[in-house]
Amino acid sequence: MARYTGAVCRLCRREGQKLFLKGERCYTDKCSVGRRSYAPGEHGQGRKKLSEYGLQLRAKQTTRRFYGILESQFRHYYELAEKREGKTGEQLLSIIETRLDNVVYRLGFATSRPEARQLVVHNHFSVNGRKVNIPSYLVKPGDVISVNEKSRNSEKIKQVIAVNGSRPVPKWLEVNRETLEGKILEMPKREDIDLAVEETLIVELYSK
Ligand code: SF4
Repeated sequence: MARYTGAVCRLCRREGQKLFLKGERCYTDKCSVGRRSYAPGEHGQGRKKLSEYGLQLRAKQTTRRFYGILESQFRHYYELAEKREGKTGEQLLSIIETRLDNVVYRLGFATSRPEARQLVVHNHFSVNGRKVNIPSYLVKPGDVISVNEKSRNSEKIKQVIAVNGSRPVPKWLEVNRETLEGKILEMPKREDIDLAVEETLIVELYSK
Protein backbone atom coordinates (compact mmCIF):
# COMPACT_ATOMS: atom_id res chain seq x y z
CA MET A 1 0.00 0.00 0.00
CA ALA A 2 1.32 3.46 -0.89
CA ARG A 3 2.04 6.11 1.70
CA TYR A 4 -0.88 8.52 2.30
CA THR A 5 -0.29 11.87 0.59
CA GLY A 6 -3.67 13.56 1.12
CA ALA A 7 -4.67 16.23 3.65
CA VAL A 8 -3.35 14.94 6.96
CA CYS A 9 -5.80 16.83 9.17
CA ARG A 10 -8.53 14.60 7.72
CA LEU A 11 -6.77 11.64 9.34
CA CYS A 12 -7.02 13.23 12.78
CA ARG A 13 -10.68 14.02 12.26
CA ARG A 14 -11.31 10.46 11.07
CA GLU A 15 -9.70 9.07 14.24
CA GLY A 16 -11.33 11.69 16.49
CA GLN A 17 -8.08 12.77 18.10
CA LYS A 18 -4.93 14.78 17.45
CA LEU A 19 -2.26 12.73 15.70
CA PHE A 20 0.23 15.65 15.63
CA LEU A 21 1.09 15.34 11.95
CA LYS A 22 1.56 19.04 11.16
CA GLY A 23 4.09 20.32 13.63
CA GLU A 24 3.50 23.74 15.21
CA ARG A 25 -0.03 24.09 13.82
CA CYS A 26 -1.12 21.11 15.96
CA TYR A 27 -0.51 23.16 19.12
CA THR A 28 -2.55 26.16 17.97
CA ASP A 29 -6.27 26.85 17.69
CA LYS A 30 -5.97 26.35 13.92
CA CYS A 31 -6.03 22.59 14.57
CA SER A 32 -9.02 21.05 12.78
CA VAL A 33 -9.80 18.57 15.58
CA GLY A 34 -10.99 21.37 17.87
CA ARG A 35 -12.74 23.34 15.14
CA ARG A 36 -14.55 20.47 13.39
CA SER A 37 -14.86 17.60 15.81
CA TYR A 38 -16.63 15.23 13.42
CA ALA A 39 -15.33 12.81 10.81
CA PRO A 40 -14.56 14.20 7.33
CA GLY A 41 -16.72 13.49 4.31
CA GLU A 42 -20.37 13.72 3.37
CA HIS A 43 -21.56 11.41 6.16
CA GLY A 44 -19.06 12.56 8.76
CA GLN A 45 -21.62 14.22 11.02
CA GLY A 46 -24.03 11.30 11.00
CA ARG A 47 -21.76 8.47 12.09
CA LYS A 48 -23.34 5.37 13.55
CA LYS A 49 -22.13 3.43 16.58
CA LEU A 50 -19.15 1.31 15.61
CA SER A 51 -19.28 -2.49 15.60
CA GLU A 52 -16.73 -4.53 17.54
CA TYR A 53 -14.72 -4.96 14.35
CA GLY A 54 -15.03 -1.24 13.62
CA LEU A 55 -13.57 -0.37 17.03
CA GLN A 56 -10.68 -2.77 16.53
CA LEU A 57 -9.98 -1.39 13.07
CA ARG A 58 -10.03 2.21 14.29
CA ALA A 59 -7.59 1.37 17.11
CA LYS A 60 -5.18 -0.12 14.60
CA GLN A 61 -5.58 2.72 12.08
CA THR A 62 -5.16 5.39 14.77
CA THR A 63 -1.89 3.81 15.89
CA ARG A 64 -0.61 3.37 12.34
CA ARG A 65 -1.42 6.95 11.46
CA PHE A 66 -0.02 8.39 14.70
CA TYR A 67 3.37 6.88 13.89
CA GLY A 68 3.11 6.99 10.06
CA ILE A 69 3.54 3.26 9.53
CA LEU A 70 2.44 1.17 6.57
CA GLU A 71 0.24 -1.89 7.11
CA SER A 72 2.96 -4.44 6.30
CA GLN A 73 5.43 -2.81 8.70
CA PHE A 74 2.79 -2.62 11.38
CA ARG A 75 2.07 -6.34 11.12
CA HIS A 76 5.80 -7.01 11.32
CA TYR A 77 5.94 -5.08 14.63
CA TYR A 78 2.97 -7.08 15.86
CA GLU A 79 4.79 -10.34 15.12
CA LEU A 80 7.85 -9.05 16.99
CA ALA A 81 5.64 -8.07 19.94
CA GLU A 82 4.07 -11.53 20.08
CA LYS A 83 7.50 -13.05 20.62
CA ARG A 84 8.29 -10.79 23.57
CA GLU A 85 7.38 -11.45 27.17
CA GLY A 86 4.50 -9.41 28.57
CA LYS A 87 1.28 -8.07 27.11
CA THR A 88 1.43 -8.09 23.31
CA GLY A 89 -0.39 -4.76 22.88
CA GLU A 90 1.96 -2.96 25.27
CA GLN A 91 5.01 -4.57 23.68
CA LEU A 92 3.74 -3.47 20.27
CA LEU A 93 3.58 0.19 21.30
CA SER A 94 6.93 -0.05 23.09
CA ILE A 95 8.63 -1.41 19.95
CA ILE A 96 7.10 1.23 17.68
CA GLU A 97 8.14 4.01 20.07
CA THR A 98 11.77 3.01 19.55
CA ARG A 99 11.71 3.73 15.81
CA LEU A 100 14.42 6.28 15.06
CA ASP A 101 12.00 8.79 13.50
CA ASN A 102 9.80 8.71 16.62
CA VAL A 103 12.80 9.08 18.94
CA VAL A 104 14.08 12.06 16.94
CA TYR A 105 10.63 13.65 17.35
CA ARG A 106 10.41 12.82 21.06
CA LEU A 107 13.86 14.33 21.67
CA GLY A 108 12.66 17.62 20.15
CA PHE A 109 14.92 17.33 17.10
CA ALA A 110 11.86 17.56 14.81
CA THR A 111 8.51 19.34 14.97
CA SER A 112 6.44 16.33 13.91
CA ARG A 113 6.96 12.64 13.11
CA PRO A 114 6.63 13.25 9.34
CA GLU A 115 9.34 15.92 9.62
CA ALA A 116 11.50 13.58 11.74
CA ARG A 117 11.16 10.93 9.07
CA GLN A 118 12.34 13.38 6.40
CA LEU A 119 15.29 14.62 8.47
CA VAL A 120 16.41 11.03 9.14
CA VAL A 121 16.17 10.14 5.43
CA HIS A 122 18.24 13.25 4.62
CA ASN A 123 21.12 11.96 6.74
CA HIS A 124 21.01 14.40 9.65
CA PHE A 125 21.40 11.83 12.47
CA SER A 126 23.75 9.18 13.82
CA VAL A 127 23.23 6.34 16.26
CA ASN A 128 26.28 5.57 18.40
CA GLY A 129 28.42 7.64 16.03
CA ARG A 130 27.30 5.90 12.82
CA LYS A 131 25.07 7.68 10.32
CA VAL A 132 21.62 6.12 10.04
CA ASN A 133 19.11 7.26 7.43
CA ILE A 134 16.45 4.58 8.01
CA PRO A 135 13.38 5.98 9.84
CA SER A 136 12.24 2.50 10.94
CA TYR A 137 15.62 1.70 12.58
CA LEU A 138 14.87 0.43 16.10
CA VAL A 139 17.02 1.89 18.86
CA LYS A 140 17.66 0.20 22.21
CA PRO A 141 18.60 1.21 25.76
CA GLY A 142 22.09 2.71 25.87
CA ASP A 143 22.02 3.98 22.28
CA VAL A 144 23.03 7.60 21.71
CA ILE A 145 21.34 9.58 18.93
CA SER A 146 23.13 12.70 17.74
CA VAL A 147 22.74 15.40 15.12
CA ASN A 148 25.52 14.92 12.58
CA GLU A 149 28.43 17.35 12.68
CA LYS A 150 27.68 18.77 9.23
CA SER A 151 23.98 19.24 10.03
CA ARG A 152 24.57 21.34 13.16
CA ASN A 153 25.00 24.46 11.05
CA SER A 154 22.02 23.72 8.83
CA GLU A 155 19.39 26.47 9.05
CA LYS A 156 16.65 23.86 9.05
CA ILE A 157 18.09 22.01 12.05
CA LYS A 158 18.74 25.27 13.95
CA GLN A 159 15.16 26.37 13.36
CA VAL A 160 13.70 23.01 14.43
CA ILE A 161 15.78 22.93 17.63
CA ALA A 162 14.78 26.51 18.46
CA VAL A 163 11.07 25.76 18.03
CA ASN A 164 11.09 22.49 20.00
CA GLY A 165 13.66 23.33 22.66
CA SER A 166 11.11 23.56 25.47
CA ARG A 167 9.01 20.51 24.58
CA PRO A 168 9.15 17.98 27.46
CA VAL A 169 11.07 14.77 26.80
CA PRO A 170 9.64 11.45 28.07
CA LYS A 171 11.41 9.89 31.02
CA TRP A 172 12.79 6.95 29.05
CA LEU A 173 14.91 9.43 27.08
CA GLU A 174 17.57 11.96 28.03
CA VAL A 175 18.51 14.95 25.90
CA ASN A 176 21.43 17.34 25.92
CA ARG A 177 20.49 20.41 23.90
CA GLU A 178 24.05 21.77 24.03
CA THR A 179 25.68 18.76 22.38
CA LEU A 180 22.53 17.90 20.40
CA GLU A 181 22.55 14.33 21.67
CA GLY A 182 19.92 12.08 23.13
CA LYS A 183 20.20 8.79 24.99
CA ILE A 184 17.80 5.88 25.37
CA LEU A 185 17.65 5.18 29.11
CA GLU A 186 15.19 2.28 29.03
CA MET A 187 12.47 0.74 26.88
CA PRO A 188 9.31 2.87 26.97
CA LYS A 189 6.45 1.58 29.11
CA ARG A 190 2.76 1.96 28.28
CA GLU A 191 2.32 4.82 30.74
CA ASP A 192 5.11 6.73 28.95
CA ILE A 193 3.22 6.72 25.64
CA ASP A 194 0.68 9.49 25.08
CA LEU A 195 -1.44 7.68 22.52
CA ALA A 196 -5.12 7.42 23.45
CA VAL A 197 -5.84 3.99 22.07
CA GLU A 198 -6.87 0.65 23.54
CA GLU A 199 -4.04 -1.53 22.31
CA THR A 200 -5.90 -4.70 23.33
CA LEU A 201 -8.31 -3.99 20.45
CA ILE A 202 -5.40 -4.27 18.01
CA VAL A 203 -4.43 -7.62 19.53
CA GLU A 204 -8.04 -8.81 19.18
CA LEU A 205 -8.06 -7.72 15.52
CA TYR A 206 -4.86 -9.55 14.62
CA SER A 207 -5.76 -12.64 16.68
CA LYS A 208 -8.76 -13.45 14.48
FE1 SF4 B 1 -4.03 18.87 11.71
FE2 SF4 B 1 -2.18 18.64 13.64
FE3 SF4 B 1 -4.65 19.20 14.31
FE4 SF4 B 1 -4.04 16.78 13.36
S1 SF4 B 1 -3.33 17.64 15.29
S2 SF4 B 1 -5.83 18.06 12.81
S3 SF4 B 1 -2.45 17.28 11.88
S4 SF4 B 1 -3.31 20.48 13.07
